[in-house]
Amino acid sequence: MSDDTSPKVEGTASLDHESSVSDSKPVYKGKPMGFFRHMSAITGYGMTPESIEEYRRDFDDYYAETLCKRCEENRDWLIQYSPIVRFMMDQIREVNGNLSSENIKCLPCNKDQAGGFHPKYGILLCQNKLRDRSHTEDTMAHEMVHAYDHMRFKVDWADFKHLACSEIRASTLSGECRPYQEWMVRGQWKFLRHMEACVRRRATLSVSGHPALKGDLEAAGKIVDQVFESCYKDTRPFREVYK
Ligand SMILES: [Zn+2]
Repeated sequence: MSDDTSPKVEGTASLDHESSVSDSKPVYKGKPMGFFRHMSAITGYGMTPESIEEYRRDFDDYYAETLCKRCEENRDWLIQYSPIVRFMMDQIREVNGNLSSENIKCLPCNKDQAGGFHPKYGILLCQNKLRDRSHTEDTMAHEMVHAYDHMRFKVDWADFKHLACSEIRASTLSGECRPYQEWMVRGQWKFLRHMEACVRRRATLSVSGHPALKGDLEAAGKIVDQVFESCYKDTRPFREVYK
C-alpha cells in the first residue's frame, strides 16, 4: 500500500503470521478428523475445554482450503457488487491507496479477530472466523476505513489516540453496529444510544488488543473516551449518510 514507516499494526490486526505466508499448500498436522470426533465436538460428550479448543484448531487447519476458497469468493463478489466496499475502494484510490484482491488476503487466524489492516501488507480477512458474506462485508468495510485513515490522515498506529480514533470510525462507518440505519430512519433516540454503546465497546476491545495494552480493557476504555466525541462525529469519507 504505502511506505511502511509505522512500527506495528493496529490493535485487532496483528498480522504476525504474515511473515510466514507462502504459496505452498499447507500440510495438515492435526489429529484425524473423523465422524466420531465431529460428533463428540457437537455433543460435547467426552470433551474437555482443551480438547474442544484442539478440535477447533484442527477443524480450521483441516478445512483451510475450503475456508480460503469461500472467503476469496465472498471477497471477490463484494469487490464487484457491494456498494460500501466499492465506495471505500474508490475513496482509497482518491487518496492514492490501491486495494485489490492482491492485497486483501484470506488467511487462517489464531486470535479472535475477523480481520486486520497492516500498512505494508494490506487487509487480512480471517477465513476461519468469518461467518458469511455479510460478516465479510462488514469486516472489509471496517478494515478499509483503517486503510483510508492511513492514507488520508497519516495515522501513527503506535499512538493509542490515533488508533482509538480509527477504531471508533471503523466501527461506526462499517455497519458492524447495525441495524442502526433503520433505527436512524425511525429516529428513535434509544437506538442511537445503542449504536454509540456498540461503537464504544468494539473500539475499546480493539484498542485493548494492542500488544502494549495486553488486553487491558480499562486502560483502552479511557483512551477511547478521550477521543470519542470528535472521532464518532467524523464520518469522512461518507457525507451526511450517518448523521
Ligand atoms: Zn479495527
